[in-house]
Amino acid sequence: MTQADTMSDIRDTYRWKQVRAAILTRDAKTCHYCGDTATTVDHLIPLSKGGAPFEPDNLVAACARCNYAKKNKTAAVFLMPQPPSPDTLSITSPIVTGKQIGRAHV
Ligand SMILES: [Zn+2]
Repeated sequence: MTQADTMSDIRDTYRWKQVRAAILTRDAKTCHYCGDTATTVDHLIPLSKGGAPFEPDNLVAACARCNYAKKNKTAAVFLMPQPPSPDTLSITSPIVTGKQIGRAHV
C-alpha cells in the first residue's frame, strides 16, 4: 500500500477529522515549520515510516505549502539546516561581529 492510499484511508475517517481539528486548535492554526497560517495537519514521522496516524505527539499544524514540501520526509530531515548562503555568513560571522570565537585556545 502506498502512503497516498494510507492517507486517503485515514482522511476519510471521522476520527481523523476530530484529531485534525484538535491539532489545529492546539497549535493555534500556526504552521509548525514556518509560522504561517496552518490549514493542514502533518505527521512528524510519516505514516510510510511507521508514524502513528492519530497520535497528537506525532501531529503538528502545517500550512499547505510546508506540508506539500515535506511530503514523506520526517520532520528532522525536513528541518535540517541548509548550508548558509554567503550573505548569511557575512552577517553572522564571528569576525564581523568581533566575537573571535576560539581565541582562548590560541
Ligand atoms: Zn508552513
